[in-house]
Amino acid sequence: MSRALDRVMKQEARLLLPTYERFPVLFERGEGVHLYDSSGKKYTDFLSGIGVNALGYAHPEIQKTIWEQSSKLIHISNLFFHPYQAELAEMLTAISGLDRAFFCNSGTEAWEGGLKLARAYARHVSHNGHAPRTQLLMMENSFHGRTFGALATTGQKKYREPFAPLVPGVTFVRFNDVADLKKKFTSSVCAIGLETIQGEGGIRPVSREFLSAARQLTKRSGALLMLDEIQCGLGRTGRWFAYQHYGIQPDVVAIAKPLAAGLPLGAILTTDRVSRALHPGMHGTTFGGGPLACAVAISVIRTLKKDGMLAYVARTGEYFRQRLLELQERHPQVREVRSLGLMLALDLDSVDLAKIAVKQLLERGFVINRTNDTVLRFLPPYIITERDIDHMVAALDRVLTTNPAPAITTSRTPAKRSKQ
Ligand code: PLP
Repeated sequence: MSRALDRVMKQEARLLLPTYERFPVLFERGEGVHLYDSSGKKYTDFLSGIGVNALGYAHPEIQKTIWEQSSKLIHISNLFFHPYQAELAEMLTAISGLDRAFFCNSGTEAWEGGLKLARAYARHVSHNGHAPRTQLLMMENSFHGRTFGALATTGQKKYREPFAPLVPGVTFVRFNDVADLKKKFTSSVCAIGLETIQGEGGIRPVSREFLSAARQLTKRSGALLMLDEIQCGLGRTGRWFAYQHYGIQPDVVAIAKPLAAGLPLGAILTTDRVSRALHPGMHGTTFGGGPLACAVAISVIRTLKKDGMLAYVARTGEYFRQRLLELQERHPQVREVRSLGLMLALDLDSVDLAKIAVKQLLERGFVINRTNDTVLRFLPPYIITERDIDHMVAALDRVLTTNPAPAITTSRTPAKRSKQ
């Protein structure tokens, strides 16, 4: 361990709220898909700061935009105009098929704003004398963020329970269970909300049947269909938005992570019709949609378009998936491979093995992450190459070979191949 790391660990233990269990690595810089720690060790990044650094590190276009814009204007508040919110909204509405945007600072804020919009819209369209619909139908095993509204709609007790009581009016539906959705959908529901691909929940895509049932129910009743594409949106799956694989159009979409290449920026996208529920003063933010973050987001989208990154992500994602399926063939500890584009999961049959795999890959110079207990999650920068994937898969192969199933697994289930 380097002296710098040792010092920072001791300081943090004394000074920070104890919210994170970090790996003992002090990262100092990055370039392309590589990171370098305080001892000079090189890593290949298969996590992108949890789905944020889509263009990797030190990308020349991003550096240039930050340099130029920071010398002009970093912040101005939402009391005045700057050139970039409208330009960015123009790009986001064009790629999403939606009409309007609101900019904020993070994923949780984008989702939170979407929830407020759902309640405000229900009030806006409620007929005289009728109480507006307030019920929110959300998914089990979901994750939407840490603020109270987002937390209240997150379908995992471990996140919610320490902070109860939460925002009322939320009912959870079993993810991908159409019968459960239909049973719980009543005339008091103002929105159905879900991640098109559950991220923290282990890379689980919504089924076509479920999403189309959610769309039909909401369309018929006038409730909103809200999609959380904070992790799966903006090119991660090989299309601009994951819902574009399904051929449906939502009423509200929340995005954030890769939007501004690591600067904090999120957005709610919605339709003209829904936006009429808001008027000045009902919602806002000090920092959200500042000139620096928006200028960088414009650069991100321009670069993704210019470099043909969506097709590249789809191709590389398919290659990665095939390589993971080969691992599944060879190692009985691998229960399932799930993926869409460069959002991939290798589901193992033991929590301990998943922990060991993350740790040993880190030691071998590969950054990945474990989620939903047994799932190895891969969210590499979009610029990852087949060669990088080969190196990581070879390392993972060795890790799975040196940690064979009988020695450490507690439960075994037959291996199965996923379709998606
Ligand atoms: N929604 C999804 C699907 C996420 O993956 C996350 C973060 O991991 C969030 C919401 C919350 O985003 P943030 O951490 O930026 O508040």
